[in-house]
Amino acid sequence: MGTMAGGLAIRVKWQKLSTWLPLLVAALITACSGLVLLKVYALQAERRHEAARAELLSQLSVLRARLEYNLTAPLLISRGLVAQIVYHDGMSDADFRRAASLVIRDYDSIRNLTMSRGTVISSVYPEAPNRAALGVDYRTKPDQWPTVQQAITSRKPVVAGPVNLIQGGAALIGRVPVYLPDPAGGESRLFGLISVVIDMPKVFLASGLDARLLPMELALRGRDGLGRSGEMIWGDEAVFLRSPVEMEVTLPDGTWAMAAIPKGGWAASDGQLRVTAGMGAVLFLLTVLASFGWAFHVRRQQRAVRLVAESEERYRALMETAPMAVVVHRDGVILFANTQATRTVRAPAGETLIGRKVLDFVFPDDRADVAARMGAAMADPETVVGGPVRYVARDGRVVECEVITTRVTLDGEPAVLSVVLDVSQRNQAERERERLLESLQRSNEDLQQFAYIASHDLQEPLRNVAGYVQLLGRRYRGRLDKDADDFIAFAVQGTKRMQEMIANLLDYSLLHREDGEPACVDSRGPLDEALADLGAAMDESGAVVEVVGVMPVVLARRVELARIFLNLIGNAIKYRRADTVPRIRIFARRDGLTWVFSVADNGIGMEPAYLDRIFTLFQRLHSRETYDGTGIGLAICRKLVQHNGGRIWAESEPGQGSTFHFSLQAAD
Ligand code: ADP
Repeated sequence: MGTMAGGLAIRVKWQKLSTWLPLLVAALITACSGLVLLKVYALQAERRHEAARAELLSQLSVLRARLEYNLTAPLLISRGLVAQIVYHDGMSDADFRRAASLVIRDYDSIRNLTMSRGTVISSVYPEAPNRAALGVDYRTKPDQWPTVQQAITSRKPVVAGPVNLIQGGAALIGRVPVYLPDPAGGESRLFGLISVVIDMPKVFLASGLDARLLPMELALRGRDGLGRSGEMIWGDEAVFLRSPVEMEVTLPDGTWAMAAIPKGGWAASDGQLRVTAGMGAVLFLLTVLASFGWAFHVRRQQRAVRLVAESEERYRALMETAPMAVVVHRDGVILFANTQATRTVRAPAGETLIGRKVLDFVFPDDRADVAARMGAAMADPETVVGGPVRYVARDGRVVECEVITTRVTLDGEPAVLSVVLDVSQRNQAERERERLLESLQRSNEDLQQFAYIASHDLQEPLRNVAGYVQLLGRRYRGRLDKDADDFIAFAVQGTKRMQEMIANLLDYSLLHREDGEPACVDSRGPLDEALADLGAAMDESGAVVEVVGVMPVVLARRVELARIFLNLIGNAIKYRRADTVPRIRIFARRDGLTWVFSVADNGIGMEPAYLDRIFTLFQRLHSRETYDGTGIGLAICRKLVQHNGGRIWAESEPGQGSTFHFSLQAAD
């Protein structure tokens, strides 16, 4: 039991899981494809980035080469001048100016060339705009002296700046110290300094550093050759912070740092990467749509399959619990039979009827009939044939059934469906009922016969007895003693009473003799007849009879209805209160398919406990001394009402009055 419950729980869990499985798979596919696409995108981005850096690097190295050349060449030229001075062991100002004019003509980025003897400027070219500088001692110029001093002490060229010039623009100043060797082999002595002022805008322009034309954003720093730690020289400092490609520009003394990023930044640089990203996103979206579309499709299918299975299960349960046998057969061979079918032919549980011949189970006398019905059903799909069929159960017993047969389609082909209801028990009960009814009728007839014979045949001898007793009375009154007179009087009374009762009994037993079916009758007619018959009694008692409302048309035997009214109204007058005017109301009300007639009086009434008894033959509640009668009137009423398909009953209260009701079938 435990394992079964466990198994069921696992099955339920698995069913729940399996409905979610397609969605899980779709989510997994989406996640995986998302990851793969992201990875591909990252790789692609990295590759593109590397390529972009390499490209930038090569462009940058071309720039650097140009820059280095354009910066170094003028300085090298000044080195040529130095060589000349050393060679000639000095130089006149005129010679310097001539040499400088030649140099400047070839290198137009040189703004001026200056020669100092010691630390005092002795000549400058071009001279006109710079004449003020002549004779100036560098030591008196705190802004220039440090680099000059550095060049002198280090005996190496020093590049300073770029510095902003008073006259506008920026310039790079190269200081080349000139030491003359001592011919005697002693220490060389300082001749002076060659200074070259290089026009930076010109150098930059010649090197191709034009922000508008460059395919990148470029920045230079390293004033005074201090490299990365020096101040900005050109471009936007921010470039250094945006993971630029960097390169060093080598100067004769120190370096500049050069940084570049693609124009608009790295991200903006790569259109193709954006295309890749776009395509990736589209691909991802398609994957999501496809996988979830698939998942929902699978779920819908699963649901449909489940619904079909459930509905099949329902139908199966319905079929198997149905109280009728359901059998489908084709060409007389059973294709389907439910449990009840197996039960109907008392086949052992577990034995299948499928594959068996239908007619094998049919009682031999009924086979032709069943075959004909099967044929009729197959011939016309609209036909439903039905009727009794007897089957032979496996234990040899005959099973009486009601069968309905019609054509159906099973697996795409026509077949015959038979619905079989076992009516053996019902038939058995029916037969039993009929038998009982018959015997009842017989005994009833016997009884009636007896009552008739008794009352009829007893009349004759009774008349004799009565006659003689009366004769005795007449002839011997006063001739015997007093007791004899009384006895004879009692005997006379007794025989009279007995004659009365026997007459009543005969009357009662003959009630059924006059027959005929109940017919439509306007109840007002029989009522009026009864009232007319009672005219004398009404006059005598002063009774007031009131018919309330319209009397209906009912299904009844006219004479019998008149007699019912006669008896009931007669009683209402008879059982009046001595001190009260009898008032009798007669009315009818509709109750479903019947009319209920009522006769109400204001007479002596009865104890409710005895209300059932009064309808029995010879039952009376009052003594004959006070109220005459034999106790047969209401028995006759009951018999007549029942004979007309109705019912009679009474309500009463002692001292208040009684109401008698009886129902009859309405005529409409
Ligand atoms: P009978 O009137 O000949 O005695 P019934 O069969 O007509 O016989 O009545 C049976 C008894 O029912 C009566 O004896 C009487 O006691 C009682 N009974 C009948 N009708 C009435 C009535 N309207 N009021 C009071 N008692 C009644």
